[in-house]
Amino acid sequence: MRWEPDVTIVGGGMAGSEAAWQLAEAGLRVALVEMKPSAMSPAHQSPLLGELVCSNSLRSDDPVAPAGLLKHELRRCGSMVIACADQHRVPAGQALAVERFGFARAITQRIALHPGIRIERRRMDELPKSPVIVCTGPLTEGQLGEVIRAELGGDRMYFYDAIAPIVAADSIDFDYAFRASRWGRDSDAIDRDTASDRAAGGDTGVGDYINCPMNKAQYDDFITAVNAGRKVLPHDFEEPKYFESCMPIEVMAERGPQTLRFGPMRPIGLRDPRTGFRPWAVVQLRPENRYLTAYNLVGFQTRLAYPEQQRIFQMIPALHRAEFLRYGSIHRNTYIDAPARLGERFELRSRPNVRFAGLLTGVEGYIESCAMGLVVAWMLAGELTGRAAPPPPPTTMLGGLYHHVTAPRDEGYKYGPTNVNYGLLPPLPGTRKDNRKERMSERARADLETWLGMVRVNVAA
Ligand SMILES: Cc1cc2nc3c(=O)[nH]c(=O)nc-3n(C[C@H](O)[C@H](O)[C@H](O)COP(=O)(O)OP(=O)(O)OC[C@H]3O[C@@H](n4cnc5c(N)ncnc54)[C@H](O)[C@@H]3O)c2cc1C
Repeated sequence: MRWEPDVTIVGGGMAGSEAAWQLAEAGLRVALVEMKPSAMSPAHQSPLLGELVCSNSLRSDDPVAPAGLLKHELRRCGSMVIACADQHRVPAGQALAVERFGFARAITQRIALHPGIRIERRRMDELPKSPVIVCTGPLTEGQLGEVIRAELGGDRMYFYDAIAPIVAADSIDFDYAFRASRWGRDSDAIDRDTASDRAAGGDTGVGDYINCPMNKAQYDDFITAVNAGRKVLPHDFEEPKYFESCMPIEVMAERGPQTLRFGPMRPIGLRDPRTGFRPWAVVQLRPENRYLTAYNLVGFQTRLAYPEQQRIFQMIPALHRAEFLRYGSIHRNTYIDAPARLGERFELRSRPNVRFAGLLTGVEGYIESCAMGLVVAWMLAGELTGRAAPPPPPTTMLGGLYHHVTAPRDEGYKYGPTNVNYGLLPPLPGTRKDNRKERMSERARADLETWLGMVRVNVAA
């Protein structure tokens, strides 16, 4: 008898391997299509599934740290990828780092031996008609990339990300910072989104921006530090000329000491209420989430190394004790404008049999990609077995990522990838001195258990 899969998964990386396992464990027949080894992306080197393309760290294992909390949630959900990581752990302090070949071999073996999964070693160049989850990751390109791009309507797939750092709102020092929009009206932060912001009516009102003023001496020292700071070099396959439209601040600083002051640090239209004067330069912060607990540094996409970002950006007086929820980065990436084009089950609105998971959906990092593989698989398994599963609660890291991908955005919002951070979760009252993160972590763990009580009955009964 011919073996017809219930679901096809394209790509056997972090998301695809996890999704295949979860669907097969739910009793479905899965074809996992992986192009390696006959075709390799510029970053992949081994024929194994679950290959880590760069660092061997799955980040912190402290249950209060965002990455640690997400891994706790994944373990509770029975993640196969995290189980393989735990099995191949190497000493790395608080972090879960793995012996990468043992880790990838374990994933490959588990998948190969699962009776519900068939591995097909070939490149997929089109989207099948039957249910499919596309998990081809940050280096999706070529024919399949073109097919997806056409399905999305042309301009809803991005091939690079240029991300500005995000800081926690309660770590901004308001002895220095002040709230105002430029010229005291709807605005007008100066970055690559400005045109679309304006088209969409600008920011949501007077004073939405937080401004971090600098005097001449502070600005000059800052520029010197940016010029001297250690930068991350692009990979061979990352073309720097691609970044003209979202120039890193260090490239602007190299062009001349005043370039940033006429660019993202432009002070015009702003008056510091403490001095009554226009500052010499200003870093504007824009809300990153609806809870107003996280703000991004407008126009500050950067390739400075992470420790350098912390050191140099803390030279900005209002950010001297800033907590960085995520650092800036610029790299080759492929992701789709998920809020605009995908439905609540990560399905193409125009073609619901086609789903996406992993980094393609606008999450960043190994464990985040694995998490979205698991969630999309559970939801599809629920549908195919007639037992619909609700999405993870928004108070969990799984739910925070799910919401990031699916929440509707205002017209003009530039969707960008995220990794896990507490800015994705609804805040609790209090400050960090009140152990707020510990309490949010406890809430997440409790809410996850309640959710698991529901979905285990629904999905894996
Ligand atoms: C250079 C680089 C370095 C990175 N470093 C880190 C890091 O240090 N830490 C971190 O957390 N994240 C890092 N990332 C991000 C990382 O790739 C993702 O976090 C994660 O691997 C994405 O998981 P995924 O399952 O979406 O895609 P992947 O893990 O990349 O898996 C995609 C799979 O799809 C296969 N595939 C692609 N196209 C096709 C096709 N047409 N047909 C069949 N198969 C196909 C690929 O061969 C691959 O096996 C890095 C990314 C890049 C590009």
